[in-house]
Amino acid sequence: MPLLRTAVVGAGISGLALAWALRSRGTPVTVFEASDRVGGQIRSWLDEGFILEAGPNGYLDREGAVGRLAEQLGIAEQMRPASVAADRRALFVRGKVRFLPAKPPELLGSDIVPWWAKLRLLLEPFSRRGPVGVDESLGQFGRRHLGRHVTETLLDAVQTGIFGGDLERLSVRAAFPRLHQMERSHRSLLLAAKAMRRTAPGTPTRLGSFEGGLETLPRALGTALGEAVRFGVRVRAVEHAGGEWQVGWDGGASRFQRVVLALPPRISAELLRPLDPSIASALEAIHAVPISVVHFGWRPALTPEPAGFGVLVPAREHRRVLGIIFASSAYPFRAPGGGTLLTTLVGGAHGAEWAALPDAELVTLVREELRLILGIERPPDLVRIVRWPHAIPQYEVGHQGRLDAIATALRSHPRLLLSGSALRGPGIADCVRESVALADTIAPSSSSAPAG
Ligand SMILES: Cc1cc2nc3c(=O)[nH]c(=O)nc-3n(C[C@H](O)[C@H](O)[C@H](O)COP(=O)(O)OP(=O)(O)OC[C@H]3O[C@@H](n4cnc5c(N)ncnc54)[C@H](O)[C@@H]3O)c2cc1C
Repeated sequence: MPLLRTAVVGAGISGLALAWALRSRGTPVTVFEASDRVGGQIRSWLDEGFILEAGPNGYLDREGAVGRLAEQLGIAEQMRPASVAADRRALFVRGKVRFLPAKPPELLGSDIVPWWAKLRLLLEPFSRRGPVGVDESLGQFGRRHLGRHVTETLLDAVQTGIFGGDLERLSVRAAFPRLHQMERSHRSLLLAAKAMRRTAPGTPTRLGSFEGGLETLPRALGTALGEAVRFGVRVRAVEHAGGEWQVGWDGGASRFQRVVLALPPRISAELLRPLDPSIASALEAIHAVPISVVHFGWRPALTPEPAGFGVLVPAREHRRVLGIIFASSAYPFRAPGGGTLLTTLVGGAHGAEWAALPDAELVTLVREELRLILGIERPPDLVRIVRWPHAIPQYEVGHQGRLDAIATALRSHPRLLLSGSALRGPGIADCVRESVALADTIAPSSSSAPAG
């Protein structure tokens, strides 16, 4: 098959992984990036002896996509799994930090949920399946299986850790496809989990990062792609041009046979509105919640030092933070000279007004919450704030319908494609997996049929 000259717009992990996968298959690629760096939301830096992360703190590589990419790039030995201590995860529920048991069945013996919510859990194996063809919210789905209390504590904490979203608005099918699939195949989540443990026993995947922080991965991709990445080019137009695609920016334009937009959905929407308003509207409906990331560092370390992965705070607790990551406990290499590093996330679907507070008020808020949740009185020695007005795209009820509508509309625009965290997985590992899968469909390395 002919090798089509391809433009990838956006050098976040999605665009980079796609460009790398396409180039590995012999496709000539140019990546256009508006900023002067690769990585997009992934940014790590050394600051007063702490390795700080602007956005994500780790990846969960269930399918091994990140590991395979790291192998190909020759950086596998720089992969750093989270510490064993990070297997301990806590929730702030009923006014107190409570640790989750290591295995779900042990929940019945823990103090995470009250006795009556545990009794309700015993009914889970008798749960009904949801109605076919109805895109259910995570809240509805959870209440049917787990009862209201467990849904508003445990399930809400899980979604908070990934989406910072609203239980009643997220689509279970789009946001948690594994849960949806478990119900489809076994009706009951507990029965499905039991069957899965029988067919695929083993230890659960641990979160991971890289020596030097997560940015090690996109930087290695940027280095491998070399001159193929063009920095400081903010693409402003994508137009049909005599059977090809013209990509335009201030003061320039270039033609390609294929274009992939690996951008936040609101930016893809802006670019595509003149071409196809229906695609633009569907993309615009995938809105993102704001998050402010607040790093506090202490040197010497706090005593006692918070140990574990961190604490997630369900919305029903009415606190002003989404969660606190015990960064130096989960990733000891991030405090190489010793010390304690805690990362607090503020904002999400229920906390936009907290995320938008001015710096001084935000720091006061985080200090008050750390005092209340973890009993930390000591003022931090390092304070850094990173603001994300559009942090995490929300896969709300109707998400799959929007993706289907986009796919249908894209048929009228051959060799125009979309990628990125707003579509089929909000995490780093999802972005890598989806980019490699996209490369496989448009430039198959072996036998699969070409498309796009
Ligand atoms: C606060 C926060 C915490 C997170 N925590 C985690 C976590 O713990 N684990 C996890 O797996 N994931 C986490 N994520 C999600 C993860 O970071 C993203 O899924 C992933 O980095 C998105 O990559 P992307 O390439 O799809 O998009 P982006 O990283 O947004 O990349 C888009 C790129 O396009 C460029 N661009 C924009 N407009 C233009 C234009 N017009 N022309 C050219 N270039 C343009 C941008 O500069 C950017 O480089 C978190 C995200 C945030 C914000």
